Amino acid sequence: MTIATPIYMDYQSTTPMDPKVLDAMMPYFVDTFGHPASRNHSFGWAAEEAVDKAREQVASLIGGTAREIVFTSGATEGINLAIKGVAEMYAEKGRHMVVSVVDSRPVLDVLKRLERDHNLEVTTVPVDKNGRVAAEDIKNALRPDTILVSVMMANNEIGTVQDMAAIGTVCKEAGVIFFTDASEAAGKVPVDVQAMGIDLLTIAGHKMYGPKGVGALYVRRKKPRVRLAPQIDGGGHERGMRSGTINVPGVAGLGEACALCEQLMAEESKRVAALRDRLEQGILAECDEVEVNGDTDHRLPHNTNLSFAYIEGESMLMGMKDVALSSGSACTTATLEPSYVIRALGVSEELAHSSIRFSLGRFTTEEEVDFVVKQVIESVNHLRAMSPLYEMAKEGIDLSTVQWKGD
Ligand SMILES: *Cc1c(COP(=O)(O)O)cnc(C)c1O
Repeated sequence: MTIATPIYMDYQSTTPMDPKVLDAMMPYFVDTFGHPASRNHSFGWAAEEAVDKAREQVASLIGGTAREIVFTSGATEGINLAIKGVAEMYAEKGRHMVVSVVDSRPVLDVLKRLERDHNLEVTTVPVDKNGRVAAEDIKNALRPDTILVSVMMANNEIGTVQDMAAIGTVCKEAGVIFFTDASEAAGKVPVDVQAMGIDLLTIAGHKMYGPKGVGALYVRRKKPRVRLAPQIDGGGHERGMRSGTINVPGVAGLGEACALCEQLMAEESKRVAALRDRLEQGILAECDEVEVNGDTDHRLPHNTNLSFAYIEGESMLMGMKDVALSSGSACTTATLEPSYVIRALGVSEELAHSSIRFSLGRFTTEEEVDFVVKQVIESVNHLRAMSPLYEMAKEGIDLSTVQWKGD
Protein backbone atom coordinates (compact mmCIF):
# COMPACT_ATOMS: atom_id res chain seq x y z
CA MET A 1 0.00 0.00 0.00
CA THR A 2 1.30 3.44 -0.79
CA ILE A 3 0.81 6.25 1.60
CA ALA A 4 0.19 9.92 0.84
CA THR A 5 3.20 12.04 1.69
CA PRO A 6 4.32 14.35 3.18
CA ILE A 7 3.05 13.15 6.54
CA TYR A 8 2.13 15.76 9.10
CA MET A 9 3.38 15.10 12.63
CA ASP A 10 3.66 18.67 13.81
CA TYR A 11 0.20 19.16 15.33
CA GLN A 12 1.66 21.18 18.21
CA SER A 13 2.84 23.85 15.85
CA THR A 14 -0.58 24.13 14.24
CA THR A 15 -3.45 21.81 13.37
CA PRO A 16 -5.41 21.45 10.17
CA MET A 17 -8.92 22.77 10.59
CA ASP A 18 -11.62 20.20 11.13
CA PRO A 19 -14.00 20.34 8.12
CA LYS A 20 -16.89 20.64 10.59
CA VAL A 21 -15.31 23.85 11.86
CA LEU A 22 -15.20 25.25 8.35
CA ASP A 23 -18.90 24.37 7.94
CA ALA A 24 -19.69 26.30 11.11
CA MET A 25 -17.80 29.36 9.84
CA MET A 26 -19.12 29.55 6.30
CA PRO A 27 -22.48 31.28 6.96
CA TYR A 28 -20.75 34.25 8.60
CA PHE A 29 -18.66 35.42 5.66
CA VAL A 30 -21.34 36.36 3.16
CA ASP A 31 -24.91 35.68 4.28
CA THR A 32 -24.82 36.51 7.96
CA PHE A 33 -22.28 39.28 7.79
CA GLY A 34 -23.62 41.74 10.35
CA HIS A 35 -21.65 43.54 13.03
CA PRO A 36 -22.31 41.86 16.37
CA ALA A 37 -22.40 45.26 18.07
CA SER A 38 -25.14 46.59 15.76
CA ARG A 39 -28.04 46.60 18.18
CA ASN A 40 -30.63 48.16 15.89
CA HIS A 41 -31.29 45.52 13.27
CA SER A 42 -31.52 41.83 12.61
CA PHE A 43 -28.17 41.67 10.77
CA GLY A 44 -26.46 42.62 13.99
CA TRP A 45 -28.62 40.34 16.12
CA ALA A 46 -27.79 37.32 13.95
CA ALA A 47 -24.07 37.99 14.26
CA GLU A 48 -24.40 38.56 17.99
CA GLU A 49 -26.23 35.27 18.31
CA ALA A 50 -23.31 33.47 16.65
CA VAL A 51 -20.82 35.17 18.96
CA ASP A 52 -22.91 34.36 22.05
CA LYS A 53 -23.11 30.72 21.05
CA ALA A 54 -19.33 30.57 20.57
CA ARG A 55 -18.80 32.20 23.94
CA GLU A 56 -20.87 29.43 25.56
CA GLN A 57 -18.94 26.75 23.67
CA VAL A 58 -15.53 28.11 24.67
CA ALA A 59 -16.61 28.59 28.29
CA SER A 60 -18.00 25.08 28.47
CA LEU A 61 -14.71 23.48 27.41
CA ILE A 62 -12.79 25.12 30.26
CA GLY A 63 -15.43 25.26 33.00
CA GLY A 64 -16.01 29.02 32.87
CA THR A 65 -19.05 31.12 32.07
CA ALA A 66 -19.74 32.92 28.81
CA ARG A 67 -19.34 36.34 30.43
CA GLU A 68 -15.77 35.45 31.37
CA ILE A 69 -14.63 34.92 27.76
CA VAL A 70 -12.81 37.67 25.87
CA PHE A 71 -12.17 36.95 22.20
CA THR A 72 -8.70 37.74 20.90
CA SER A 73 -6.59 37.18 17.79
CA GLY A 74 -4.90 34.18 19.37
CA ALA A 75 -2.87 32.97 22.31
CA THR A 76 -0.12 35.55 21.90
CA GLU A 77 -2.58 38.41 22.23
CA GLY A 78 -4.24 36.68 25.19
CA ILE A 79 -0.85 36.39 26.89
CA ASN A 80 -0.09 40.06 26.28
CA LEU A 81 -3.49 41.19 27.53
CA ALA A 82 -3.35 38.99 30.63
CA ILE A 83 0.16 39.79 31.79
CA LYS A 84 0.43 43.43 30.73
CA GLY A 85 -3.18 44.00 31.78
CA VAL A 86 -2.45 42.76 35.30
CA ALA A 87 0.89 44.58 35.52
CA GLU A 88 -0.83 47.86 34.73
CA MET A 89 -4.02 47.34 36.72
CA TYR A 90 -2.34 46.06 39.88
CA ALA A 91 0.78 48.26 39.74
CA GLU A 92 -0.07 49.75 43.12
CA LYS A 93 -0.37 46.37 44.78
CA GLY A 94 3.05 45.23 43.58
CA ARG A 95 5.47 44.76 40.77
CA HIS A 96 6.57 41.15 41.14
CA MET A 97 5.57 38.13 39.05
CA VAL A 98 6.49 34.44 39.17
CA VAL A 99 6.91 32.26 36.07
CA SER A 100 8.02 28.72 35.36
CA VAL A 101 11.23 28.31 33.39
CA VAL A 102 9.40 26.20 30.78
CA ASP A 103 6.61 28.70 30.10
CA SER A 104 5.99 29.55 26.44
CA ARG A 105 8.19 31.95 24.50
CA PRO A 106 5.54 34.71 24.27
CA VAL A 107 5.00 34.62 28.05
CA LEU A 108 8.72 34.88 28.73
CA ASP A 109 9.12 37.64 26.16
CA VAL A 110 6.30 39.72 27.61
CA LEU A 111 7.81 39.38 31.08
CA LYS A 112 11.27 40.29 29.78
CA ARG A 113 9.90 43.48 28.32
CA LEU A 114 8.04 44.44 31.49
CA GLU A 115 11.23 43.78 33.43
CA ARG A 116 13.30 45.91 31.10
CA ASP A 117 10.93 48.81 30.48
CA HIS A 118 8.39 48.81 33.29
CA ASN A 119 10.24 48.11 36.47
CA LEU A 120 8.74 44.66 37.01
CA GLU A 121 10.63 41.99 38.94
CA VAL A 122 10.31 38.39 37.84
CA THR A 123 11.21 35.19 39.69
CA THR A 124 11.72 32.17 37.46
CA VAL A 125 10.90 28.83 39.04
CA PRO A 126 12.80 25.72 37.87
CA VAL A 127 11.37 22.32 36.90
CA ASP A 128 12.41 18.78 37.74
CA LYS A 129 14.08 16.50 35.20
CA ASN A 130 10.69 15.68 33.70
CA GLY A 131 9.69 19.30 33.29
CA ARG A 132 7.29 19.54 36.22
CA VAL A 133 6.95 22.54 38.48
CA ALA A 134 6.61 21.91 42.23
CA ALA A 135 3.76 23.86 43.84
CA GLU A 136 6.06 24.25 46.85
CA ASP A 137 8.60 26.10 44.69
CA ILE A 138 5.89 28.48 43.51
CA LYS A 139 4.88 29.08 47.12
CA ASN A 140 8.48 29.84 48.10
CA ALA A 141 8.84 32.31 45.25
CA LEU A 142 5.84 34.41 46.35
CA ARG A 143 6.42 37.80 47.98
CA PRO A 144 4.01 40.26 49.55
CA ASP A 145 4.18 42.30 46.33
CA THR A 146 3.58 39.35 43.94
CA ILE A 147 0.67 40.13 41.62
CA LEU A 148 0.74 37.19 39.19
CA VAL A 149 1.90 33.60 38.82
CA SER A 150 2.19 32.14 35.31
CA VAL A 151 2.56 28.42 34.74
CA MET A 152 1.68 26.98 31.34
CA MET A 153 -0.68 24.05 31.65
CA ALA A 154 1.03 21.76 29.14
CA ASN A 155 4.32 22.34 27.44
CA ASN A 156 4.46 22.75 23.68
CA GLU A 157 7.77 20.92 23.28
CA ILE A 158 7.81 18.06 25.78
CA GLY A 159 4.08 17.82 26.51
CA THR A 160 4.52 17.82 30.29
CA VAL A 161 1.23 18.60 32.04
CA GLN A 162 1.51 20.53 35.29
CA ASP A 163 -0.31 19.93 38.56
CA MET A 164 -2.57 22.92 38.04
CA ALA A 165 -4.85 22.27 41.03
CA ALA A 166 -1.89 22.24 43.44
CA ILE A 167 -0.42 25.44 42.00
CA GLY A 168 -3.87 27.04 41.88
CA THR A 169 -4.35 26.28 45.58
CA VAL A 170 -1.06 27.96 46.45
CA CYS A 171 -2.08 31.05 44.50
CA LYS A 172 -5.57 31.15 46.08
CA GLU A 173 -4.14 30.90 49.58
CA ALA A 174 -1.80 33.79 48.87
CA GLY A 175 -4.40 35.86 47.02
CA VAL A 176 -2.26 36.02 43.88
CA ILE A 177 -3.73 35.94 40.35
CA PHE A 178 -2.99 32.66 38.56
CA PHE A 179 -2.51 32.82 34.78
CA THR A 180 -1.97 29.88 32.46
CA ASP A 181 -1.15 29.54 28.79
CA ALA A 182 -3.38 26.55 28.04
CA SER A 183 -3.10 26.69 24.28
CA GLU A 184 -1.48 23.26 24.09
CA ALA A 185 -3.71 21.70 26.76
CA ALA A 186 -7.22 22.87 25.96
CA GLY A 187 -9.15 20.34 23.95
CA LYS A 188 -6.55 17.62 24.60
CA VAL A 189 -6.78 17.16 28.36
CA PRO A 190 -9.54 18.22 30.76
CA VAL A 191 -9.36 21.87 31.78
CA ASP A 192 -11.45 23.23 34.65
CA VAL A 193 -10.78 26.77 35.80
CA GLN A 194 -12.78 26.14 38.99
CA ALA A 195 -11.11 22.94 40.16
CA MET A 196 -7.71 24.27 39.11
CA GLY A 197 -8.10 27.71 40.70
CA ILE A 198 -7.23 29.49 37.45
CA ASP A 199 -7.98 33.21 37.14
CA LEU A 200 -6.73 33.90 33.61
CA LEU A 201 -6.32 31.39 30.79
CA THR A 202 -5.50 31.74 27.12
CA ILE A 203 -6.24 29.44 24.18
CA ALA A 204 -5.64 29.53 20.42
CA GLY A 205 -8.03 28.22 17.75
CA HIS A 206 -5.33 26.83 15.49
CA LYS A 207 -3.95 24.41 18.10
CA MET A 208 -7.32 22.68 18.39
CA TYR A 209 -8.55 22.21 14.81
CA GLY A 210 -9.98 25.72 14.65
CA PRO A 211 -8.97 28.72 12.54
CA LYS A 212 -5.75 30.70 12.81
CA GLY A 213 -5.83 34.27 14.06
CA VAL A 214 -8.50 33.71 16.69
CA GLY A 215 -8.33 32.80 20.34
CA ALA A 216 -9.83 33.55 23.71
CA LEU A 217 -8.82 34.77 27.12
CA TYR A 218 -10.74 33.58 30.16
CA VAL A 219 -10.98 36.33 32.78
CA ARG A 220 -12.42 35.30 36.16
CA ARG A 221 -15.36 37.44 37.30
CA LYS A 222 -15.95 36.09 40.79
CA LYS A 223 -13.73 35.06 43.70
CA PRO A 224 -11.77 37.07 42.76
CA ARG A 225 -12.97 39.44 40.09
CA VAL A 226 -9.89 39.98 37.93
CA ARG A 227 -9.54 43.35 36.28
CA LEU A 228 -7.32 44.01 33.29
CA ALA A 229 -6.06 47.21 31.78
CA PRO A 230 -6.94 46.96 28.07
CA GLN A 231 -4.00 46.78 25.69
CA ILE A 232 -6.02 47.75 22.62
CA ASP A 233 -8.16 50.86 23.11
CA GLY A 234 -11.13 51.68 20.96
CA GLY A 235 -14.85 51.11 20.90
CA GLY A 236 -14.95 49.26 24.23
CA HIS A 237 -15.87 45.85 22.86
CA GLU A 238 -15.45 42.72 24.97
CA ARG A 239 -16.47 44.56 28.14
CA GLY A 240 -13.81 47.17 27.49
CA MET A 241 -10.97 44.69 27.59
CA ARG A 242 -10.42 44.23 23.87
CA SER A 243 -11.68 46.78 21.41
CA GLY A 244 -12.08 46.02 17.74
CA THR A 245 -14.81 44.35 15.70
CA ILE A 246 -15.10 40.69 16.55
CA ASN A 247 -13.95 38.24 13.89
CA VAL A 248 -17.39 36.60 13.67
CA PRO A 249 -16.55 33.68 11.34
CA GLY A 250 -13.34 33.04 13.27
CA VAL A 251 -15.11 33.11 16.60
CA ALA A 252 -17.86 30.80 15.30
CA GLY A 253 -15.08 28.45 14.20
CA LEU A 254 -13.33 28.63 17.56
CA GLY A 255 -16.61 27.83 19.30
CA GLU A 256 -17.25 24.83 17.08
CA ALA A 257 -13.64 23.66 17.55
CA CYS A 258 -14.13 23.78 21.33
CA ALA A 259 -17.45 21.94 21.12
CA LEU A 260 -15.90 19.21 18.98
CA CYS A 261 -12.95 18.82 21.33
CA GLU A 262 -15.26 18.59 24.31
CA GLN A 263 -17.34 15.97 22.56
CA LEU A 264 -14.42 13.90 21.24
CA MET A 265 -11.76 14.36 23.93
CA ALA A 266 -12.21 11.20 25.97
CA GLU A 267 -12.11 8.88 22.99
CA GLU A 268 -9.69 10.88 20.88
CA SER A 269 -7.06 11.23 23.57
CA LYS A 270 -7.08 7.45 24.05
CA ARG A 271 -6.76 6.75 20.35
CA VAL A 272 -4.04 9.35 19.78
CA ALA A 273 -2.08 8.27 22.86
CA ALA A 274 -2.10 4.69 21.57
CA LEU A 275 -0.68 5.90 18.25
CA ARG A 276 1.92 8.01 20.07
CA ASP A 277 2.94 4.97 22.14
CA ARG A 278 3.19 2.87 19.00
CA LEU A 279 5.48 5.48 17.47
CA GLU A 280 7.64 5.83 20.57
CA GLN A 281 7.96 2.12 21.18
CA GLY A 282 8.63 1.42 17.51
CA ILE A 283 11.57 3.82 17.55
CA LEU A 284 12.91 2.80 20.96
CA ALA A 285 12.79 -0.88 20.01
CA GLU A 286 15.14 -0.33 17.07
CA CYS A 287 17.37 2.58 18.09
CA ASP A 288 19.66 2.69 21.09
CA GLU A 289 20.67 5.82 23.00
CA VAL A 290 17.33 7.53 22.56
CA GLU A 291 15.94 9.48 25.52
CA VAL A 292 12.30 10.38 26.06
CA ASN A 293 12.16 14.01 27.22
CA GLY A 294 9.33 14.99 29.54
CA ASP A 295 7.10 13.21 32.01
CA THR A 296 5.65 9.95 30.73
CA ASP A 297 3.09 9.91 33.58
CA HIS A 298 1.89 13.48 33.06
CA ARG A 299 2.07 14.09 29.36
CA LEU A 300 -0.17 15.29 26.56
CA PRO A 301 -1.62 12.30 24.70
CA HIS A 302 -0.33 13.45 21.32
CA ASN A 303 3.26 14.36 22.12
CA THR A 304 6.59 12.62 22.34
CA ASN A 305 9.93 14.39 22.39
CA LEU A 306 12.98 12.23 21.78
CA SER A 307 16.70 12.95 21.95
CA PHE A 308 18.82 10.90 19.56
CA ALA A 309 22.36 10.94 20.94
CA TYR A 310 25.15 11.74 18.43
CA ILE A 311 22.67 13.14 15.92
CA GLU A 312 21.80 16.77 15.15
CA GLY A 313 18.03 17.10 15.17
CA GLU A 314 18.24 19.50 12.22
CA SER A 315 20.21 16.98 10.12
CA MET A 316 17.65 14.34 10.85
CA LEU A 317 14.75 16.54 9.81
CA MET A 318 16.53 17.51 6.61
CA GLY A 319 17.02 13.88 5.72
CA MET A 320 13.32 13.08 6.16
CA LYS A 321 11.59 15.24 3.58
CA ASP A 322 8.42 13.13 3.64
CA VAL A 323 7.71 13.82 7.29
CA ALA A 324 6.84 17.15 8.91
CA LEU A 325 8.37 17.28 12.39
CA SER A 326 9.87 19.93 14.60
CA SER A 327 13.29 20.12 16.24
CA GLY A 328 12.27 22.89 18.61
CA SER A 329 9.08 24.72 19.38
CA ALA A 330 7.23 26.62 16.69
CA CYS A 331 8.10 29.84 18.42
CA THR A 332 11.85 29.24 18.47
CA THR A 333 12.56 27.71 15.06
CA ALA A 334 13.83 31.08 13.86
CA THR A 335 16.86 30.71 16.10
CA LEU A 336 19.42 27.93 16.29
CA GLU A 337 19.67 27.99 20.06
CA PRO A 338 19.15 24.61 21.67
CA SER A 339 15.68 24.44 23.16
CA TYR A 340 15.53 26.25 26.51
CA VAL A 341 12.82 23.83 27.60
CA ILE A 342 14.99 20.75 27.09
CA ARG A 343 17.94 22.57 28.68
CA ALA A 344 15.78 23.31 31.74
CA LEU A 345 15.45 19.55 32.30
CA GLY A 346 19.18 19.40 32.94
CA VAL A 347 19.90 17.81 29.55
CA SER A 348 23.30 18.61 28.01
CA GLU A 349 23.52 21.10 25.15
CA GLU A 350 24.48 18.32 22.72
CA LEU A 351 21.50 16.19 23.64
CA ALA A 352 19.20 19.22 23.52
CA HIS A 353 20.38 19.81 19.95
CA SER A 354 19.46 16.23 19.12
CA SER A 355 15.83 16.46 20.22
CA ILE A 356 12.87 16.02 17.93
CA ARG A 357 9.22 16.65 18.69
CA PHE A 358 6.64 14.32 17.23
CA SER A 359 3.08 15.56 17.61
CA LEU A 360 0.11 13.61 16.37
CA GLY A 361 -3.54 14.46 16.14
CA ARG A 362 -7.09 13.89 15.06
CA PHE A 363 -6.22 12.86 11.52
CA THR A 364 -3.11 10.73 12.22
CA THR A 365 -3.40 7.10 11.10
CA GLU A 366 -1.61 3.90 12.12
CA GLU A 367 -0.13 3.64 8.60
CA GLU A 368 1.38 7.08 8.99
CA VAL A 369 2.89 6.15 12.33
CA ASP A 370 4.45 3.00 10.91
CA PHE A 371 5.84 4.94 7.95
CA VAL A 372 7.41 7.54 10.24
CA VAL A 373 8.90 4.87 12.52
CA LYS A 374 10.56 3.29 9.50
CA GLN A 375 11.88 6.62 8.24
CA VAL A 376 13.27 7.56 11.64
CA ILE A 377 15.06 4.23 12.08
CA GLU A 378 16.63 4.53 8.62
CA SER A 379 17.69 8.09 9.25
CA VAL A 380 19.19 7.31 12.66
CA ASN A 381 21.13 4.34 11.30
CA HIS A 382 22.34 6.37 8.35
CA LEU A 383 23.50 9.37 10.39
CA ARG A 384 25.12 7.29 13.09
CA ALA A 385 27.00 5.24 10.52
CA MET A 386 28.70 8.51 9.58
CA SER A 387 29.30 9.63 13.16
CA PRO A 388 32.81 9.08 14.53
CA LEU A 389 31.53 9.96 18.01
CA TYR A 390 28.93 7.21 17.89
CA GLU A 391 31.59 4.75 16.67
CA MET A 392 33.90 5.69 19.53
CA ALA A 393 31.11 5.39 22.10
CA LYS A 394 30.22 1.96 20.74
CA GLU A 395 33.87 0.90 21.04
CA GLY A 396 33.64 1.72 24.72
CA ILE A 397 35.63 4.96 24.68
CA ASP A 398 34.43 7.35 27.37
CA LEU A 399 33.95 10.53 25.34
CA SER A 400 34.05 12.74 28.41
CA THR A 401 37.73 11.82 28.95
CA VAL A 402 38.82 12.45 25.36
CA GLN A 403 41.18 15.41 24.83
CA TRP A 404 39.87 17.23 21.80
CA LYS A 405 42.26 19.12 19.55
CA GLY A 406 41.68 22.80 20.07
CA ASP A 407 40.09 22.37 23.53
C1 LIG B 1 0.90 28.35 19.53
C2 LIG B 1 1.16 28.80 20.90
C3 LIG B 1 1.13 30.15 21.21
C4 LIG B 1 0.87 31.22 20.18
O1 LIG B 1 -0.45 31.20 19.77
P1 LIG B 1 -0.97 32.15 18.59
O2 LIG B 1 -2.42 31.91 18.55
O3 LIG B 1 -0.27 31.66 17.37
O4 LIG B 1 -0.62 33.52 18.93
C5 LIG B 1 1.36 30.50 22.51
N1 LIG B 1 1.61 29.59 23.46
C6 LIG B 1 1.65 28.27 23.18
C7 LIG B 1 1.91 27.31 24.27
C8 LIG B 1 1.43 27.84 21.90
O5 LIG B 1 1.48 26.54 21.64
